[in-house]
Amino acid sequence: MNLSFKKRINKLRNLSLLSIVIGFLLIYLGIFFTSSMLILSFLTGIGFLLIIGSTISFFILGIYEGKALTVKCPHCRKPTKMYKKIDYCMHCNEHITTVPEYHGKEI
Ligand SMILES: [Zn+2]
Repeated sequence: MNLSFKKRINKLRNLSLLSIVIGFLLIYLGIFFTSSMLILSFLTGIGFLLIIGSTISFFILGIYEGKALTVKCPHCRKPTKMYKKIDYCMHCNEHITTVPEYHGKEI
């Protein structure tokens, strides 16, 4: 497990943000194609779908973030969030786990 859940969440968040930007750009591009109804409705439709899609993924990410467990990192003593039983510290990248069998082991 090289990629922690936190990093995956950040990646998904960046992707959602990117699709919002692309969605707005497509709708904006549609202004230049007002002569063709087909291209205009196509661009607006795709742009709208991208914005709706990223809104939904932001919503799902928000639910996951709410479920996160806040623990104190044993290494740097700062509070960090855990998304699964095994995760990395946000500040120092130290492995943290709630499963006793994994203590002190390289995961
Ligand atoms: Zn730490």
